[in-house]
Amino acid sequence: MTYPQLALHVAGQWLTQASGGERDVINPADESVLGKLPLAGQAELAAAAEAAQRGFLQWRRLSALERFTVLRRATDLMRSRAQHIAAVLTLEQGKPLTEALREVTLSADIIDFQAEEAKRLYGRTVPPRVPGILSQTVMRQPVGPVAAFTPWNFPVNLPSRKLGSALAAGCSVVIKPAEETPGSCMEVVRCFLEAGVPPDALNLVCGQAAEVSSTLIAHEAIRKVSFTGSVAVGKLLGEQCARGVKRYTPELGGHAPVIVCEDADLSFALKSSIPAKFRNAGQVCASPIRFYVHRTHFDAFAQGLVKGAMALKIGAGSDASTQMGPLAHAGRLDDMQRFVDEAVAMGARLLCGGKRVARPGYFFEPTVLTDVPAGCRLAREEPFGPIATLAAFDTLDEAIGLANASRYGLGAYAFTRDLVTAHRLGEEIEAGMVGINHFGVSQPELPFGGWKESGHGQEMGLEGLLAYTDVKTVVVGVPS
Ligand code: NAD
Repeated sequence: MTYPQLALHVAGQWLTQASGGERDVINPADESVLGKLPLAGQAELAAAAEAAQRGFLQWRRLSALERFTVLRRATDLMRSRAQHIAAVLTLEQGKPLTEALREVTLSADIIDFQAEEAKRLYGRTVPPRVPGILSQTVMRQPVGPVAAFTPWNFPVNLPSRKLGSALAAGCSVVIKPAEETPGSCMEVVRCFLEAGVPPDALNLVCGQAAEVSSTLIAHEAIRKVSFTGSVAVGKLLGEQCARGVKRYTPELGGHAPVIVCEDADLSFALKSSIPAKFRNAGQVCASPIRFYVHRTHFDAFAQGLVKGAMALKIGAGSDASTQMGPLAHAGRLDDMQRFVDEAVAMGARLLCGGKRVARPGYFFEPTVLTDVPAGCRLAREEPFGPIATLAAFDTLDEAIGLANASRYGLGAYAFTRDLVTAHRLGEEIEAGMVGINHFGVSQPELPFGGWKESGHGQEMGLEGLLAYTDVKTVVVGVPS
């Protein structure tokens, strides 16, 4: 498998060189250089935003059915090229090939759902309150050119969420994937363009992240910003959007709790938790992190989790037997080490893992800690890696209090066989998505988004589409 030549897509042209220079894209499984990524400077950024304005005027004129037809052709292409796109994804990001393949086909499903749903963007008519009015219509229209920013952990899924909804709604896009993993997003953009999305309506840029976002957000053509990434950067971009009163959807980090109740089926909870925790090496925004286990099950659950973590086969994602790949880049290793070392220095007990794997590539051991003090960073901040913490609880009130004692509110999970408890947890946990006896909260048909500092607004589901529309009220009176 050869990694594709990297290029930006600006104003209908694929650019293999750009005015911002270039940077290496690294294979995290062996630290080799995969390719050179051209970086956009001010000239390409302005050209991309202006093209998006022109592309918007073309694309918005199509009916929802015509847009659906183009997007469906794009997802047919994605499915027919899924093996190739997945292989690119694994090379640049590290996750096992089977996970990458699932990501590509699920991304096609997400786009399909949004394109279908756009055919049903119904408005409504409202009875007039005074005579002399023929109609009062409330309708939804595309918000305009969108700037979209995505991280490296799901390099196909996260761009597809944004591109699918924006294009289905009639918006044009300038997308900036993470500079660490641009190749697979480029392959998806190719599918859209070959399917018939007007070249000006879909631009792809990479560059100095802070420069790209501040330039695009300030550009008068851009009407909406969609960002997936960390809370810190999400806040920065929010401030920039506020200056131009631009629509903003921040999808930020999480620190998901898992409550294992007294009545839970312990072996089922363990069997579900181990793959969920270590999927994509824990680099998942809704990844389970804080396990709160009823005291009667604590020792057995801790033993089971540690045994499962230590049994995972670690290796390159391209190796079919690999269950957990490397972290996405070198900086992640240092960050994991800092989380663990600080927690241990403050009194946490390391049950397994806790250090880099001694081999080339950015591999970190699956790690489980307990007795993690409330004041340390791991207890408060998302590690975004293969690290889980364990604590015992005695009452459900206590468990719900612990789960909610966080500035994040993205994913949350629980295991119970009691329906009343399940409903109570669904009601009282402060998070955008709650999975009871199930970790699968991210589905094309379901809205996905955070509460509190995890963000606001949603992607996927009907809400994901509405996020790219504005509401317009039209009142038509009797002409004379
Ligand atoms: P990040 O915030 O550093 O980067 C995300 C994007 O912003 C990338 O495109 C990056 O190039 C860009 N960026 C980085 N620094 C910037 C700056 N100063 N100004 C402007 N743009 C900048 O996040 P990350 O570490 O790459 O990704 C991990 C984070 O993403 C985690 O917090 C994770 O939970 C979150 N995430 C959230 C969701 C969700 O749907 N809520 C999904 C996946 C990941």
